[in-house]
Amino acid sequence: MKNRKTLCLLTAVPDTFHSQRICRGVATQCEKYGYDLAVFCAMINLDFFFEDYAQGERNIYELPDFKRFDGIIFDSISMSNGNQTKLMEKLCDKIKHQTEAPLVNVGMPFGDLDYIQNENDEPIRELCRHAIEVHGCRDICILTGRKGHHESEERLEIMLDEIHKHGLEVTEEHRVYGDFWYSSGNKLAQDIVSGKIKKPDAVIAASDHMALGFIEEYTKLGGHVPEDVVVLGFEGTSEALLDDISLTTVDSNFAKCAADAVDRLRSFIEPEKEIIPYAQDVGSMFHIGMSCGCTPCHSDTLNAIKANIYLVTRNYKPDVFDDDIDIGLLMESYIPERLTASTSPDECITNIYNTAYVISPFLNFYLCLRQDWLDTNADVTEGYPDKMDLVLLRSMSGRQDINVQEYRQTFNTELMLPQLFEETDEPSLYYFSAVHFADKTLGYAVLQRKLSDCRKFNLVYRNWLRFISNALEMARTRNRYVVLSIYDKMTGLLNRRGMYQELERLTTCKTVDKELFVSVIDMDGLKYINDTFGHSEGDHGIIRIADAVRAVAQENDICCRAGGDEFFIIGLRDKGAFDADKYADDFCGMLSKLSESDNKPYVVTASIGSALESENSDLNIEALIAEADENMYHYKLSRRRRREDRREGL
Ligand code: GH3
Ligand code: MG
Repeated sequence: MKNRKTLCLLTAVPDTFHSQRICRGVATQCEKYGYDLAVFCAMINLDFFFEDYAQGERNIYELPDFKRFDGIIFDSISMSNGNQTKLMEKLCDKIKHQTEAPLVNVGMPFGDLDYIQNENDEPIRELCRHAIEVHGCRDICILTGRKGHHESEERLEIMLDEIHKHGLEVTEEHRVYGDFWYSSGNKLAQDIVSGKIKKPDAVIAASDHMALGFIEEYTKLGGHVPEDVVVLGFEGTSEALLDDISLTTVDSNFAKCAADAVDRLRSFIEPEKEIIPYAQDVGSMFHIGMSCGCTPCHSDTLNAIKANIYLVTRNYKPDVFDDDIDIGLLMESYIPERLTASTSPDECITNIYNTAYVISPFLNFYLCLRQDWLDTNADVTEGYPDKMDLVLLRSMSGRQDINVQEYRQTFNTELMLPQLFEETDEPSLYYFSAVHFADKTLGYAVLQRKLSDCRKFNLVYRNWLRFISNALEMARTRNRYVVLSIYDKMTGLLNRRGMYQELERLTTCKTVDKELFVSVIDMDGLKYINDTFGHSEGDHGIIRIADAVRAVAQENDICCRAGGDEFFIIGLRDKGAFDADKYADDFCGMLSKLSESDNKPYVVTASIGSALESENSDLNIEALIAEADENMYHYKLSRRRRREDRREGL
């Protein structure tokens, strides 16, 4: 077991501003303290409209084995999206049941969990100061969230306090409750334009969406922002930066509160160690837009565009691969087409390996799949099987790249990822996310990055994961058709087409000390069983022959139902070791044992003949089969004659 402490963060939608702030705060502190961080996150809102897909994403929360972590952080805002309180309750129960490790909740209170309150005090005060000190606003209207809601009352209180400090009052009609959403901004604009509420100098909204709703409706009704009213928002969303009239806003302080959560955990798990508080810089959290009348900061807007908009044509330089790649390059890479063109599951995994360059920067990328992921009859929609296969490891950490085919490692799923517990020089960040098709779980992916690279979690990784999940499903479906086309459904043995395919494999691994044999087997008197006992009893006889074929075959032999009641066994043996008569006796002995145990009114027997490849000529499989068939026929005739002789009492 490694010495380094490992924390676990449960969050969702990692490319939103909110989650990025949470991750940044946690990762910054983990880097300071030398802690590894494992993040388990669904990539979409937990109440995503495509419910089967959301279920596939939520399954990642079934993975963590909490007793393996030293502390756990719960991002309750992301995790409660769409009222997923049931999921939160389930997780809390599981955590409490599995471990005594400390658990800290950030974002909003939940149950009796130890809670770190979001300290938005300073950023919100900065908004008020900006309106009053920079723009000289005196008559300010505050638009906050729902009445009685914890965050909305708190934000209102802070704003009132800061405005009072400047010797100003906020009238009763200018303390407006809303719902944090565009609609309440729309309504305030209508009330002001209609004269129901007196027009203020500034509207400060407790969320960007309400501020944007206000600007939208106010300008639609003929007003001007910022000339008539200065508008300020709160939260620092990308919507604010990308609006026609970009919004002046300040980031919510989730990074700080997430960082405080790590400090709280440290005080429990290493009480003797120093705490180095997270340095917050309100200046860098403040984004100047057009809505207040200042000269907007275009670089913020441009960054938001780069992070959010598909297809931004840039002059890509080779070093872009060492840094971040935007979504435009991902879409233009035609990776989905490359991945779905894979002709086999192994090729698909190799292609995933080859396209992983787009998710740079990373230290390692791991793909873990269910051992039976190719079995389309064994769908898993909840949880993970006890064992997983690590089928791909792409390493950028200076180690040599590891070839996928050679690198297959089976591990106990409770470990989540064996490498998470290896001793390393530097602490790092492991993002665990689901790999699935709709609600069908195929496995999960783990992206290991430097803790300082956590901010680079963007649209690219999420979308690349979608591509690889779809490609794996495509490979699985194709494989199913391949399986159906090369196997005989009734017996599970290869059919003739499968036999030829396998024959190629067998002949390529043949060495000079080996020789190839073919045995042909044909059931005796199937027509009689069919006519006397029914077709299903005939089927039963065929299945028994297949069982006997499997029982006498060795590991790499080809077992084939060639059609009807005819079977082939093809294999390699040491030169001189194959004894056709003994093989026939073994087979018939096995079949008679199986048949006896059935207690049927008939006995299943078969005839068998074999042929060995000749040393002096090239392998001609058809000729060998024909020779074995001839021998089988002689065998059948001689048995039939013996039977007739017995009947005639000779
Ligand atoms: P022999 O001892 O000479 O091998 O005679 P047989 O009765 O086994 O007849 P033969 O091998 O010449 O032909 C096989 C028959 O088996 C033909 C067909 O009616 C029947 N058959 C072929 N496929 C199936 C199957 O999937 N299920 C059943 N029940 N019968 C089959
Ligand atoms: Mg037959």
